[in-house]
Amino acid sequence: MACRFTTGTIRVEPDRRHVTLPRLGTIRTHESTRKLERRIAGGSARILSATVRFERGRWFVSFQVEVERAERTPARPDVAVGVDLGVKCLAVLADSRGEIRHVLNPAHYDTALKALKRLSRRVSRRHGLDRRTGQTPSKRWLKANAERNRVHHQVANLRTDALHKLTTAISAEYGTVVVEDLNVAGMLRNRRLARKIADAGFGEIRRQLTYKTGWNGGQVHVADRWFPSSKTCCGCGAVKAKLPLHARAFCCDVCGLVMDRDANAACNLAALVTASTTGTGVAGDRGAKAPKPRGADQKTRVTLPSRMAGAGRAGGATLPRQRQAEARDRHQDTATLTLR
Ligand SMILES: [Zn+2]
Repeated sequence: MACRFTTGTIRVEPDRRHVTLPRLGTIRTHESTRKLERRIAGGSARILSATVRFERGRWFVSFQVEVERAERTPARPDVAVGVDLGVKCLAVLADSRGEIRHVLNPAHYDTALKALKRLSRRVSRRHGLDRRTGQTPSKRWLKANAERNRVHHQVANLRTDALHKLTTAISAEYGTVVVEDLNVAGMLRNRRLARKIADAGFGEIRRQLTYKTGWNGGQVHVADRWFPSSKTCCGCGAVKAKLPLHARAFCCDVCGLVMDRDANAACNLAALVTASTTGTGVAGDRGAKAPKPRGADQKTRVTLPSRMAGAGRAGGATLPRQRQAEARDRHQDTATLTLR
């Protein structure tokens, strides 16, 4: 449910609390419009269009803006990081220096998830809409459903917020980010709710990282869809035939390495790009620990980030540093605000 305005009065009011839209007039916003308003007042941004939409029980307005952004560089441009998204823990980061970080879920996330499960059970016990028998939903069902939706939106909002904070922090720090491709096989195999929420994050984290690393001068590598990130041992490179989802620890049968499952996956993702860029198959510091097995090259397939792939079609295979900077000079961006 969305409506886009391209002509008429589209304005962010100087009080930084209201926006003016065609036909709708001046509307108060939930959050401050400061970031956008000062750019417009300063002349470094221009509004191209506005989209009003209803989502997760709230009204939003998104401004498509042409913005001039200062060129930035990541704090550690020569370090690569592997990102593994999970349910228990929002994400596990492993960088090419061997440092592992666990990013925890936002506060109240587990509470909200539990409430969601409880409310879903309640909804299913009541009389809902049935098209086969023509039964209309009962008032009790409608009430329970509305309450369930509210919590559903809450869970989604918590995760969206945490994902944004995560991707902003990652793209500000690392020069190269390696993420998994969307886990289609995993989604088909497991229908549990929590897994689905995490899987929805894979595509979104990739999208956010792609544009945010673009702003910061880094790049994103997407691991091959069938790259066995969680089944490979990041110590010796041996690949397990099977690793059940409930197994939280990775125990290698070959070298005896015992590691957190997600940390191992993140390490493998980080090693993927380190190995392919150095070309030796030895992943940085970890190379000293154990040699890579034969056939390591097969596992180092890395698909090009879409930005690079697009540039390849337009002209040269690689985009020179200078042209990258020019491309970043002026580009389009979207600012989203919640309407009261
Ligand atoms: Zn091993």
